[in-house]
Amino acid sequence: MPGFHGLFIPGPTNLPFDVRQAMDVPLEDHRAPDFPTFTLPLFRDLKQIFKTEKGQVFLFPASGTGGWEAAITNTLSPGDRVLIAVFGQFSHLWADLCQRHGLVVDKLDVEWGEGFPLDKCAERLAADKEHKIKAVLVCHNETATGVTSDVAGVRKALDAASHPALLMVDGVSSIASIDFRMDEWGVDLAVAGSQKGFMLPAGLAIVGASPKALAAGKTAKCPRCFFDFADMIRTNKDGYFPYTPATTLLRGLRASVDSLLAEGLDNVVARHHRLAEAVRRGVTAWGLTLCAKEPKWYSDTVSAIVVPKNFNGDDVIKVAYHRYRLSLGAGLSKVAGRVFRIGHLGHINEIMVLQALAGCEMAMRDVGVPVEAGSGVAAAEEYIRSTAPKLKLGKVA
Ligand SMILES: *Cc1c(COP(=O)(O)O)cnc(C)c1O
Repeated sequence: MPGFHGLFIPGPTNLPFDVRQAMDVPLEDHRAPDFPTFTLPLFRDLKQIFKTEKGQVFLFPASGTGGWEAAITNTLSPGDRVLIAVFGQFSHLWADLCQRHGLVVDKLDVEWGEGFPLDKCAERLAADKEHKIKAVLVCHNETATGVTSDVAGVRKALDAASHPALLMVDGVSSIASIDFRMDEWGVDLAVAGSQKGFMLPAGLAIVGASPKALAAGKTAKCPRCFFDFADMIRTNKDGYFPYTPATTLLRGLRASVDSLLAEGLDNVVARHHRLAEAVRRGVTAWGLTLCAKEPKWYSDTVSAIVVPKNFNGDDVIKVAYHRYRLSLGAGLSKVAGRVFRIGHLGHINEIMVLQALAGCEMAMRDVGVPVEAGSGVAAAEEYIRSTAPKLKLGKVA
């Protein structure tokens, strides 16, 4: 089929040509004497993406879920108490993973569409005089609902209560796209995955750990082997890995980190914000609303759009896929059929966003959702035009 299939799910995201080319290399010797000349600068530069100088970034051949597991097993012991807010499928799954590892999970149940409840968290921390809570887990960007939470606010709540719990952040759909500051926000564990903001295939769990997290590892009793930080530290120091690394993905990661740093992280964040805002203008023009209940929670990487009553979001997705070769994200679990999602992160630009909006419009009209043809695209266009760089145009003589 000619042309590109429109990939607007919130991961895997679109693969840039230079990243793809960087991975089109012969397989290499991961124990070669010169392998560290490739890996050591990569470890160093990744820290810039996480905005950490003090921490260390680990690369596991896994998906984001493996990163969750690495974060908890390296720092906690069975029976330890963790505090987690559940407001979507991903925060739910992380809580479930903790439970399966024998942790005691204190859940703050929040309505889907809302973000991390800072007040309730502060209350729990203040009440925990004996410091039984060993970690607070925050899903920075809940991909199921398109909700971004205030991680700096959680750090403030911990500090205000003088609470020593570790701060663990799921940044799988935020890091490298939405503002994220590991050191400044006092994040102890930061989890990312290769297939979202890093614009790579799935296959790397990228985990940042603070010195405090690494120190916690000395007494943490959760069983671990594949995800053991200690084995990584011992070998990464010299540029190697405890087992076979995903060398091809690492080559791609090098290209991805280069392109993120060349664009500049601030510009990357600003681009995501602007494109997300264009999508939101489109949604408003359709007369529809986001699953995210308040603007402060609007995600700049994914928008979950609520379909009107009596329509099924899955129908919109099906029609978009079959008739227009456009992939959209489905509503998961509690919001199944209630929403469809547009992923707008990674290797995307203005015209691609318009393409996604046009496809959504057609698909919605096909299933009978009463949106006006071109309305969302027009609103997004006007926003994009009004925020585009000014140009000096030559006069025709
Ligand atoms: C995608 C995602 C995950 C899970 O990552 P996998 O790579 O599918 O294991 C975890 N958390 C969030 C917020 C995500 O968006």
